Amino acid sequence: MQKTREFHRRSITDRDAFWREQAERVLWDTPFAEVLDFSRPPFARWFVGGQTNLCFNAVDRWVESQGEQPALIWVSTEVDQEITYTRRQLFDEVNAVAAMLREQGVGRGDRVLLYMPMVPQAVFTMLACARLGAVHSVVFGGFASVNLAQRIDDATPKVIVSADAGSRAGKVVPYKPLLDKALSLCAHPPKSVIVLNRGLAPCGLEPRRDLDYQALRERHEGARVPVQWLESSEPSYILYTSGTTGKPKGVQRDVGGYAVALAASMEYLFDGKPGDTFFCTSDIGWVVGHSYIVYGPLIGGQATILYEGTPVRPDGAILWKLVEQHRVNTLFSAPTAVRVLKRQAPELLSRHDLSTLRAVYLAGEPLDEPTAQWISEGLGKPIIDNYWQTESGWPILSAQPGVERVATRFGSPSFPVYGFDARIVSEQTGEDLPAGEKGVVAIVPPLPPGAMSTIWGDDDRFVQTYFTSIPGRQLYSTFDWGRVDEDGYWFILGRTDDVINVAGHRLGTREIEESINSHSGIAECAVVGVADSLKGQVAMAFAVLKNPALAERPEDARAVEGDIMRVVEDQLGAVARPARIRFVAALPKTRSGKVLRRAIVAICEGRDPGDLTTIEDPSSLEQIKDALQ
Ligand code: AMP
Repeated sequence: MQKTREFHRRSITDRDAFWREQAERVLWDTPFAEVLDFSRPPFARWFVGGQTNLCFNAVDRWVESQGEQPALIWVSTEVDQEITYTRRQLFDEVNAVAAMLREQGVGRGDRVLLYMPMVPQAVFTMLACARLGAVHSVVFGGFASVNLAQRIDDATPKVIVSADAGSRAGKVVPYKPLLDKALSLCAHPPKSVIVLNRGLAPCGLEPRRDLDYQALRERHEGARVPVQWLESSEPSYILYTSGTTGKPKGVQRDVGGYAVALAASMEYLFDGKPGDTFFCTSDIGWVVGHSYIVYGPLIGGQATILYEGTPVRPDGAILWKLVEQHRVNTLFSAPTAVRVLKRQAPELLSRHDLSTLRAVYLAGEPLDEPTAQWISEGLGKPIIDNYWQTESGWPILSAQPGVERVATRFGSPSFPVYGFDARIVSEQTGEDLPAGEKGVVAIVPPLPPGAMSTIWGDDDRFVQTYFTSIPGRQLYSTFDWGRVDEDGYWFILGRTDDVINVAGHRLGTREIEESINSHSGIAECAVVGVADSLKGQVAMAFAVLKNPALAERPEDARAVEGDIMRVVEDQLGAVARPARIRFVAALPKTRSGKVLRRAIVAICEGRDPGDLTTIEDPSSLEQIKDALQ
């Protein structure tokens, strides 16, 4: 791994020269004057003074050389449709949507919120925003009204683009009614909402607010909208993510740094080249979808597959069928998807010709060894576990086959990626820890190009949240535990905070607790993440009722549980619904009133709860045990 180490070392010690070279991958309208301005740490401004545009780099620049080649391949096994857009057609669609948005008054710096299923119009809209210099904020379709309303009020979009419905596992999932409800909760609703009517669900349009996507699209057929050149550090998008507080954080990304980071990653991490086909099964509502369904492959001159469907419909070979059919070179998915496939017949892995496929990348949650081994042996392809976060924008830890081919180890996302000065540090002293010791995964600032620039509208919160938790040094905390082995392979050992990861979906337990507490019958509750063989983790809730008699009989308890589940689903979405809600008379707390979450998790997972000297009422833990029976 000498070459990987040397490459990484140079990215840190000869930082400016390294990134100056990488920046040549991007087309700049005005060249940058300075590689990095780090005069106000921890804020980093990359490629200062340079002007560029993400849409131009993803679409326009490839039209001449690849105009008739596939750029966006939409496959929906939900509605049985497949449409391929060449780069030129993508250019046309993006221009039409840009004209639609411009007509609604959207321009440089304005926000546009997307609440859309996995349809090509969502990609057109993201790219159209980039073209206009507008800031998009995509909200995951699995989130419901309260989540959505919070994000609308924080981003204050000029326009929202949505759809009548999505479809998941053959079931129609309405979007518009949730959006309407969210808008009724908002303090700052937008003036207009553009609605794509797919004909999946009844979809009323509010006369003075809602506009029909298709009608606008027809009116703007053939429109051409000039690219808005942006200074490298201007915002490209906001993507909300959960943390320890109930209020989601708007991760803000720049333009130039992001373009450079993604362009370089297409070669070094994915070993890819223009003309390849990239298939990422994530959702556009997550960071992986932003970087590796939309921007990364398109900026790298690759075709990208946008897939609306699950890995097991019509059968467990669908992903491999698509790989064969579209001659996919890189597949990017999540450990949960593989664990779902593991429950299917193993022959499905070898039914299709996978000769074009170089490797399978998995990210978003811990990849357990047995799952990694199963898929690796079943496919006979390298499996690349890579570790990152919404905040980082692209992988922090990964094998880098475009730099050097190094053997991977099951259970490890390999090594720090160039640009990330990652360390394992002591939670108590902030000092670097030697190999073998468990500590916090931290990054020495500046964060590299492509990582978050700040929290939308809240620079102080950015500094406070990420750069003050490690004593003695201003380091970025990932809030993950990690360890490096003697050979330099990194291992991620879970979160240091109250964030949980359910099937790759990052959820804040605090948000779920707030939602449960909004039920009038609840006095207080605690939500924890508990290990699950399919989803990695699931949320378990323990609640104290104001009137304990309400749940005395099992059928009453089930009714109250169902009632609370509906509240959470209604407010936050089905993804946030706990697997179980159990009722207890008191929560286990310390004498200072802190809920003993780690002890609760240990009991739920059948482990020893450890040191309990600070517990106020030891019987409360017994109650948790009883409630689990
Ligand atoms: P998100 O911001 O939603 O992408 O979630 C990021 C979090 O997911 C990280 O902080 C980790 O806790 C977890 N995560 C992501 N990728 C991996 C991985 N390859 N191995 C272990 N945990 C991961």
